[in-house]
Amino acid sequence: MEEKAVVVLGATGSIGTQSLDVIEKVKGFTVAGISFGKNGQVAQDILNKFHVKYYLGNVALPNGTRVESTSELLEKTHPDIVVCAVPGFDGVKATLDAIRYAKRIALATKESMVCAGPFVKELAEKNEVEIIPVDSEHSAIFQLYEEHIDHIIITASGGATRQIPLDKINTMLPDEILKHPTWNMGKRITIDSATMVNKFFEVVEAHELFNLPYDKIDVRINPSSFVHGIVFLKDGTIKIHAGRPDMRVPIGYALTYPSRVYESYVSPVEEFDTRLLLVEKERYPLFFYGLEITKEDDLAKRIAFNSADEIAVEYFLTRKITFEAINWIIREVVEKIGSEAISVSAIDDVFEVDKLSRIYAGEFVKKFINN
Ligand code: NDP
Ligand code: MG
Repeated sequence: MEEKAVVVLGATGSIGTQSLDVIEKVKGFTVAGISFGKNGQVAQDILNKFHVKYYLGNVALPNGTRVESTSELLEKTHPDIVVCAVPGFDGVKATLDAIRYAKRIALATKESMVCAGPFVKELAEKNEVEIIPVDSEHSAIFQLYEEHIDHIIITASGGATRQIPLDKINTMLPDEILKHPTWNMGKRITIDSATMVNKFFEVVEAHELFNLPYDKIDVRINPSSFVHGIVFLKDGTIKIHAGRPDMRVPIGYALTYPSRVYESYVSPVEEFDTRLLLVEKERYPLFFYGLEITKEDDLAKRIAFNSADEIAVEYFLTRKITFEAINWIIREVVEKIGSEAISVSAIDDVFEVDKLSRIYAGEFVKKFINN
């Protein structure tokens, strides 16, 4: 069997390194190229271990050939599969590039669907590219999917804020918010789990990936993160996807689909918590604000939400603003963009709205900077 060439975008991160773990264990894949940001040490280790020829990154490495852009990386490597695992709007750009070159996208970067879903899908269809979700809940729904769905549930963990007294949440510090109860992920998505912005993004992602109306997508908290997704069929059947919270499982599935050849190396599960709790409005105001936006179907607001969150989380992580301020900054930016009634009818508009939102976020954030 011919080996499949994989390019991993965001290779030094949480999803990137776990993708490489899977590739190491499953036969039939080679790593043709990687991209990374600043972590030259980990990138160098990957280059050596997987004999990677091409890389894109902010650090020059002693071996391998450095390229200038994601497009160049993909042109040089002709990948069968691209793992898209760069966070934020940079990840949206990387996904749009990947769709022009790959046969399959293993999509972790949910921001691509939030900011540019309609364009990503249109381009994928035009170029005959498969998009296989890596996000665990969407991988679950993808695996359960069939005709005659009534509605679906995607689950959330509730992040680090789930059991904190309500009056203590607003002043929680980055170190406390970064202690995720069930998943070990990059910093932004860990903060986004505590605000449940991540789950709002995932509702949009599910809407785009599975063409389901928003009122057919429900969210419940499963504190153990063992239940990933549930599909309710019209005949009354309920199909549940569950398993240990381990991203290597959905990554393995996205790489090897339609086969399922990744073998987990942890002990089998004896029993697990299947509780499905309602999401509390007072605890996760940004999640409910996100759901309000879905009613308007305004793509500009989705883009603004992402840009504002990206910036606010960065300020929070460097302790310049409080946890509570993330909420206010996002609302101000989204409302401001909303008031301008920008129509997003082409990819260039997506870039334009992101740019504008960043300018507004940069202004609004000043009001909240700690003295
Ligand atoms: P991390 O922060 O752990 O990793 C981000 C990776 O992207 C690093 O390799 C980083 O490089 C690299 N990177 C950052 N900016 C750039 C850039 N401009 N060009 C190229 N590479 C860049 O993030 P995660 O792995 O947690 O998340 C990645 C994506 O996957 C996000 O969109 C997230 O929402 C999604 N996701 C993650 C899950 C998880 O379990 N982690 C679960 C579901 C979805 P460096 O570190 O070298 O600077
Ligand atoms: Mg998820």
